[in-house]
Amino acid sequence: MKTALVTGASGGIGLAGADALRAAGMHVVRLARSLREAKDERRTDIACDVTDPASVDRAMVRIEHELGVPNVIVNNAGIFFIKPLAETSYEDFTTTLATNLTAAFLVARTLVPKMVQRGSGHLVTIGSISDYIGFSGSTAYAASKFGLRGMHEVIRQETAKSGVRTTLISPGPVDTDIWNAVDPDAKPGFTKRKDMMRAEDVAAAVLYAVTQPEHVAVTEIRLLPAIYTPRG
Ligand code: NDP
Repeated sequence: MKTALVTGASGGIGLAGADALRAAGMHVVRLARSLREAKDERRTDIACDVTDPASVDRAMVRIEHELGVPNVIVNNAGIFFIKPLAETSYEDFTTTLATNLTAAFLVARTLVPKMVQRGSGHLVTIGSISDYIGFSGSTAYAASKFGLRGMHEVIRQETAKSGVRTTLISPGPVDTDIWNAVDPDAKPGFTKRKDMMRAEDVAAAVLYAVTQPEHVAVTEIRLLPAIYTPRG
């Protein structure tokens, strides 16, 4: 049975992605802070704060020991907020980078070389529309997401012809809890929740990317709500 590791899989896009991969027949390892440790034939849940490198290391060691190097990794865990540069604190910035970017690096650094050694595997990175457009109020978020795009491009180069494939998925607004603090329905210029995509739409893109024939590399997928007005 193939295995998939999904970070940030207690809700939103990560949970929908994990469910889609499990429905496709994989054993899915879900990581998140709020998950209770659990295990059955098709699922392993690990409580893990991805901003804590020791916690990530422990989770990686356990996954390799219990299930081997995963066939699919979805680096998804992320946080989001909107603040102008002048109001973005050092903690805002470093926590965003630690959660959205450094954690993805830690997971990739541990597992991707082992995928290369094996000659197979798929690394999916959940970027954002903010990995290619700079929106006002998103200094920290854009820094993390443009960083993910850069890391994706480099890993793609470094794993070329190894049998390991890499996909960057860059969604526009998706109706998940990540928007709760922003409250877009109450603010002019924001995509309203009813017009946003659903977590399952992004999960379908993840599934598409990782189920293509071996000779096909889905390097990048951009998704937007059909009714979309960029704020800029
Ligand atoms: P949610 O807030 O619904 O889910 C975020 C997930 O990340 C949760 O499972 C949360 O779990 C986990 N997470 C957050 N911090 C940590 C941490 N320190 N350690 C471990 N897990 C953590 O957000 P979405 O599903 O919307 O977002 C998922 C990804 O998709 C993010 O990378 C986001 O940037 C990206 N994205 C989202 C868009 C949107 O509009 N929703 C658009 C484009 C990209 P827990 O709290 O239990 O730790």
